[in-house]
Amino acid sequence: MSELNKLSLREARAGLREKKFSSVELTKACLSAISERDGDINAFVKVTEESALEEARGVDDRLAAGEKMSALAGIPVAVKDLLNTKGVTTTCASPILKDFVPPYDAEAVSRLRNAGMVMVGKTNLDEFACGASTEHSCFGVTKNPHDLERVAGGSSGGSAAAVAADMCIYAIGTDTGGSIRQPASFCGVYGMKVTYGRVSRSGVTAMASSWDTIGPLARSVGDIADVLGVIAGRDELDSTTPDVAVPDYSSFLDKGVKGMKIGLPKEYFGEGVEEETVKIIKEAVLELEKQGAELVEISLPMTKYAVAAYYISMPAELSANLERFDGIRYGKKPSSDPEDLVDYYFKARGEGFGDEIKRRIMIGTYVLSAGYYDAYYKKAQKVRTKIIEDFNKAYEKVDVIIGPISPFPSFKIGELVDDPLAMYTADALTIPASAAGVPSLACPVGAYHGSGLPVGLQIMAPQFEEGRCLQVGSVLESA
Ligand code: GLN
Repeated sequence: MSELNKLSLREARAGLREKKFSSVELTKACLSAISERDGDINAFVKVTEESALEEARGVDDRLAAGEKMSALAGIPVAVKDLLNTKGVTTTCASPILKDFVPPYDAEAVSRLRNAGMVMVGKTNLDEFACGASTEHSCFGVTKNPHDLERVAGGSSGGSAAAVAADMCIYAIGTDTGGSIRQPASFCGVYGMKVTYGRVSRSGVTAMASSWDTIGPLARSVGDIADVLGVIAGRDELDSTTPDVAVPDYSSFLDKGVKGMKIGLPKEYFGEGVEEETVKIIKEAVLELEKQGAELVEISLPMTKYAVAAYYISMPAELSANLERFDGIRYGKKPSSDPEDLVDYYFKARGEGFGDEIKRRIMIGTYVLSAGYYDAYYKKAQKVRTKIIEDFNKAYEKVDVIIGPISPFPSFKIGELVDDPLAMYTADALTIPASAAGVPSLACPVGAYHGSGLPVGLQIMAPQFEEGRCLQVGSVLESA
């Protein structure tokens, strides 16, 4: 059977259940796509061929024995190399962790494993998830499957490219300020940034702890719903996961949008956003109106401060989180003999971290230092509260909010990497939902005329209303 690797998760599951093919065949199809295409794309930092086939055989045996298995059983997944995978290197794309083999699975991975996971490999990212292009990786850049001269986005660039290039059926990524949504948009796939606390962060290397989320990337809205249903929910090991019931996400898929109020923030369609991006998104939104939704212009006035607040708060948290990588507790030892303990730290961290990480650690320690804390960190926290208020106010009037994810489609490799400020500014439309901790679903809705570069929009809902995002997303998908 050919092209099994191109199936959606739901199609793959149906095929497995109807015994049209086995999980081993499905897995082999993904593995051969990886060996054919990943030399060019570089989405994977590690391919776990042997264990994947073993896992697939295990699922085939259990299904053959008539066992009722989870919706994800036997379906090949690729996991961002920021999530711990027991016995499989987890590098965070950083030299300091290049040989790190975690002794346990991240909670999200462990839930997938219990569901009959077949993991084909670990995917590339910006070092410690810091970036928007997967260019800050010690494994080299991940290329966009739609145009190999362009970036796949970041930081979950490997996960998005792996799904887009049919090298897995779905993938797991993380989103702190846009890292699932933006690469999903650049690569033309679906991706869900969940409510803060919806998916356990346990076993995922922390970037900015009060912002980090874990979520799926896939080829359909239904696929996203199925993965979310497995990984979401309370976990004792992450105290920020509340005891909020996990609904049957697939029940939201065919509800339609009749009578729904959709907010279009004027700040998301204004200056700085390319005209063609706006046009493609407005066309998609008009389709929702045709299906009975009401479009409401709204304002999220604090949007313009989001980047500034994030790039103070995030480095502050990052610098604290990365303290543990000192070459003693975690991380590689220095390559030459240190003079004393301080020199040991300097050498281990100097050799182990890339430039972007060093830049952020410096900003983070600066904004947290005595005398600057109030002026920077505390002020950024206050701005964050204002952003939350923006969203709360908007949700009094509308059910969901829709806007672009990125002001422009995928850019050329090397185009922004030496201009950190320009790279940071490009996160302007993804950071607000992260600041407010609300869910946001990335949906591919069109492509640039000529270049064919994909464009995605995001559907944001109130906290823990992921279902509402999926409801609107599924209407767009069938339109
Ligand atoms: N692009 C953002 C940054 O560089 C977001 C990263 C993320 O969400 N992990 O920090």
